[in-house]
Amino acid sequence: MNADLSGKVAIVTGGARDIGAAVVRALAKSGASVVVNYQASGDRATALVAEVTAAGGKAVAVQADVTKEADVRRLVEETTAAFGGRIDILVNNAGGIVKRTKLEDMTGAFWDAVFALNTKSTFLVTQAVVPHMREGGAIVNMASLAARDGGGGGALAYSSSKGAVLTMTRGLAKELAPKKIRVNCVSPGMIDTTFHDLHTPQAAREATAAKTLVGRQGTPEDVANAVLFLASDMSAYLSGESVEINGGLYFV
Ligand code: NAP
Repeated sequence: MNADLSGKVAIVTGGARDIGAAVVRALAKSGASVVVNYQASGDRATALVAEVTAAGGKAVAVQADVTKEADVRRLVEETTAAFGGRIDILVNNAGGIVKRTKLEDMTGAFWDAVFALNTKSTFLVTQAVVPHMREGGAIVNMASLAARDGGGGGALAYSSSKGAVLTMTRGLAKELAPKKIRVNCVSPGMIDTTFHDLHTPQAAREATAAKTLVGRQGTPEDVANAVLFLASDMSAYLSGESVEINGGLYFV
């Protein structure tokens, strides 16, 4: 057993930057042909595809808003057209908190937007991809430590939407088991990305990092290594599982 993904085709949603880009690099380095989905980061997607190609790998960039059904259909069509009709690995990475919002300021529209980005997108892309997946397919969803602990300040909608991703992972694992498709998720803690650059004060990041047993924030590569494991046959006996990537925060 190893993480050799030669001949396999992967889609990484939100793959142009931060955690998604680290996942793209890890999968491509292991031999997979990778579709780098992006919404707004076209330049970064193009640069990443050039980087992967220069290193001898295969990748294409496909723009699609994963909250929109028509875009998701096109993403899957462009994937099958680019790489011979098969899809072996799906990483539902795209997501985010949108904005920290307390209960008293929450609107129904905001709640729906956060659930569309994190939860509905995971459902839509998975539903569109599964008909093209063969036996041995692997789906990796992006939950969060927030799914378990309720999240930090103003993260009510986000943590709830990631809780749904965690539950969806277990339900999908059961539903897709007869097709021999495994479904798992990763649940990252504080990972050093644009997400926190935009939404978390530096002092709060440092305080969380200091509380971990490892003594730092996580890196996108820390997450990508776990995604690679779940996407490969190295995790052949795992399905419906969440890999917790939080530097030991559970134990403090
Ligand atoms: P990030 O820096 O905010 O990046 C978000 C990614 O999602 C970008 O690639 C973005 O693509 C993509 N995206 C957003 N809306 C999209 C849409 N409608 N359609 C397609 N793509 C869309 O976040 P990150 O920290 O790398 O997080 C990646 C995932 O890990 C998210 O699901 C996040 O919730 C989860 N997570 C992060 C942490 C953390 O500490 N950072 C912890 C737990 C879970 P464009 O730039 O192309 O728009």
